[in-house]
This record gives sequence, C-alpha cells and structure tokens, in this order.
Amino acid sequence: MSEKDSKTDRRDFLQNSFLGAAGAGLAVASTTHVAIAEEKTTPKTDHTNEVDVLVVGGGTAGVIAAIQAGRAGAKTLLVERGSQLGGTTTTGGVAFPGLFDAWGKQVIAGIGWELVKESVEMDGGDFPDFAKVPQRHWHNQLYTNQFLYAILAEEKCEQAGVSIAYYEFPRSVAKTETGWEVDCVGFGTTRRVHCKQIIDCTGGAEVVGLLGFPRLREEERQPGSFLFKLGEAHAPGREQVHRVYVHGADSTSSVTATEANLTGRKTILAKLRKEKKRLMHLQPETGFRESFRIEGETIVSVNDYTSGRVFEDAICNAFYPVDLHTKQGVKPKPLKPGTVPTIPLRALIPKGSRNIIVAGRCVSSDRLANSGLRVQASCMAMGQAAGVAATLAAQSGTTPLEVPLEGIHRLLAEHGAILPGKA
Ligand SMILES: Cc1cc2nc3c(=O)[nH]c(=O)nc-3n(C[C@H](O)[C@H](O)[C@H](O)COP(=O)(O)OP(=O)(O)OC[C@H]3O[C@@H](n4cnc5c(N)ncnc54)[C@H](O)[C@@H]3O)c2cc1C
Repeated sequence: MSEKDSKTDRRDFLQNSFLGAAGAGLAVASTTHVAIAEEKTTPKTDHTNEVDVLVVGGGTAGVIAAIQAGRAGAKTLLVERGSQLGGTTTTGGVAFPGLFDAWGKQVIAGIGWELVKESVEMDGGDFPDFAKVPQRHWHNQLYTNQFLYAILAEEKCEQAGVSIAYYEFPRSVAKTETGWEVDCVGFGTTRRVHCKQIIDCTGGAEVVGLLGFPRLREEERQPGSFLFKLGEAHAPGREQVHRVYVHGADSTSSVTATEANLTGRKTILAKLRKEKKRLMHLQPETGFRESFRIEGETIVSVNDYTSGRVFEDAICNAFYPVDLHTKQGVKPKPLKPGTVPTIPLRALIPKGSRNIIVAGRCVSSDRLANSGLRVQASCMAMGQAAGVAATLAAQSGTTPLEVPLEGIHRLLAEHGAILPGKA
C-alpha cells in the first residue's frame, strides 16, 4: 500500500469511528479514545531530483560551493545531514574564520568573504585591519555571529536557486551514463538524485568513501573540541567561547560521533561542578579537526605548503600556520614572511575519479600541510573553486580535471575570488 493510500485509509477510519459514535447518540468528549489503524512506516523513494550539481555537506566549504554553482547557472541541490548550514563554523561553534589576509593584504575573497563580511556588518561587528600584519595570526580572524551566519547562508542559497535537503545523507551512489544516481535517506524520507557532478564537502570525504576511492587517515588524529561558556553570558559575534579537548574524537560514524559528544558534555559537566559556575552556552556537538582526507591526483606536502609553492593548477590561496593539535596542546608554526601557500585543483580530485570533486578539510594533503589548509577561509576558497569546476564540467559534459584552468580562473574572478599567486 502506498503512503498516500494508507493515510487516506487512516483518515477514513478515524472519520468513520467518530461518525459512528456520534450517530449512535454517544457523548463524544475530548478524552474520546479511538483506535489508530496500523500504518506501514517503511520509507519509499518519495522525492526525486534531476540536477547538474549535487553538493553533499552544507558546512564551511559546502555552502560556498553550492552558492557558487547556483550563481553560475547550475541546477544545484545541497544535502546536509544536520539541521542548519555552516557545519563547524556554526554547529561546531568555531565562528571565528581565518585567515583571509596575509602579510598586509587580502589573499582570499569571493563568496566566503561576502558571507562573512555581511554577517559581521549586519551584526555591527568589527573588522581587523588587513593592511597590518598582526603579532599573533589569530588576531586577524573575524568574529561572526554563528546564528546569523547560518540564516544568511540559507538566504544566499535561496537567492542562488539552490535547493536544500536537511536531515539527509547519501546511502548509495551509482555511476550512470551522464553522471550519478545518488540515493539519500532522511527520517521519513528517501530521495533519489540524478546529477552530473558531485561536490563532496562532508569534512571526511564520505561520498568518496562510499565510492571506494582511496582516503588517508592517521592512526592518531588531532583532538576534537567541545565549545561552551561558563559564568558570563556568551556574546555571539564578539568573542570566542571556551573549549575542552575531546581526545580520540572520531566523526566517521554516528556511533563514534555519539561517543565524542557524550565525552565532551561529561567533561564540561565535571568542570561546571568543580568551578561552581552557571553554564551559559553550549554548542550542540563536538567540533572535529581531523578525519579522512582524500588521496587526490596530487597530495599537498608540508614542504609545498611552507614554501608557498604556486602550483601550475592552483585554484586558490591558503594561509595559516602549521597548526597541529596533540595531547600536549598546540604550538602553531608560523609561515616565513611573504609565504602564501596555494591549493591545486588536483588536490580536490579523488585519484582516478571522474565527475566528483571535494572541498574543505578533506583536501588531499599530508597531515602537517592539512593542519594549516583546514582553516575556514581556505575551505571557503576551495568550496568556491569546486563550485566553479563542477559547474563548468556539468555544462560542457566533461569532468572537473579536464575543465580548462583559464575557464575556472575566469569564472572565479567574475565571482569575486582572488586568484592564486595574484594577491
Ligand atoms: C575546535 C576547532 C577549532 C578550530 N579553529 C579554527 C580557527 O580558529 N580558525 C579557522 O579558520 N578554522 C578553525 N578550525 C578549522 C575549521 O573550522 C574546519 O576545518 C572547517 O570549518 C572545516 O570545513 P568543512 O567544510 O571541511 O567541514 P564542516 O564545516 O565540518 O562541514 C561538513 C558538513 O558536512 C555535513 N556532513 C557530514 N557528513 C555528511 C553526509 N554523509 N551527508 C550529508 N552531510 C554530511 C556536516 O553535518 C557538516 O555540516 C577549527 C576546527 C575545530 C574543530
């Protein structure tokens, strides 16, 4: 029986019960109990989409990828397993994106910058002076209001014609003649998506993993952090919140992510009891620093990163110290003056793949390079570049790796991005 049929039957059943009781002259009080007909709850494919570009993961990179694809004319669907956009920037509470500048000038702009700037302006926040080289790198991060950021991200997606499906994630992906057939599942919902290109922005390259392309992961990963505030009210958009490390945090399954959340909250509860302060702010989940990275067509090494190598297929700049958190804490290693690393297109392409590209912290890189590349401005710049490459590939019936680089650069520049090596 179809879902529609079963609902109709249930309605008829309830109406008949009511009429039957009233017709028999019985008093129908508000506490009347009626038997509920048994309904089948097995989800079926109740949504289908034909799109050019499917973005999976609406976090830091994915939001920008989707907006870019939409603005460039691609029919775009964004599937996000959570309940809002922004990922680590909003749900994780890391609402202090960096770094858009290096050595006295802006090196990353485009759609990510537009969204950050608008959210700071609308919130009456402050902007750092990018013309000044700060004493500590994080002085030039921006404080954004995580709540406003998520709403503005939704508005920009809507304006770009991007459809959003929350609470859903891909369960299987199959190759088709023109691209992919992706089956997604959410609660009470299944969705079949036919798309030409996939942009995997899940943080841990989940779709790449589903497809069986190689991924890289360390035995010991950087800790996650749970963000909160004790004592005084949190002022969103004005400050960082407190954080506790969650060692061993693993974002790769609901089971391990549950464990990380339980551990994080337990640690905060113990702190609360010890410090006898009020709990004034708590993020809904752990922020994860490290998970799977793809093994791409090239792997950015820490030497590439710290030497500021300008790759022949560079699609954006990146800037941050090498920033590896361990059980002993973190000691950022700043880049040498004048150094601005770049990210090549090939580091966004899973090795041997066609019609799929990634953006965000899962970029193909060794662990130390990744500790610097994973920051938000760089993830946003990768997202924008992936959005452009996937759109051009969809429009010309090819794969992102075969899209001419000049075309990618031209479209990126038209959409406000700063081209690599040209800051
Ligand atoms: C505690 C902490 C502090 C940090 N400090 C800084 C800092 O000071 N400055 C800075 O710039 N960066 C900082 N970072 C790094 C930076 O925030 C992240 O690396 C970056 O935001 C990752 O972006 P992303 O788009 O790759 O992933 P995310 O923003 O995590 O987005 C991934 C999205 O994909 C969704 N998703 C995952 N799997 C699926 C699936 N199967 N289907 C559908 N959706 C899925 C998730 O729900 C999420 O919304 C910090 C990170 C952490 C955790």
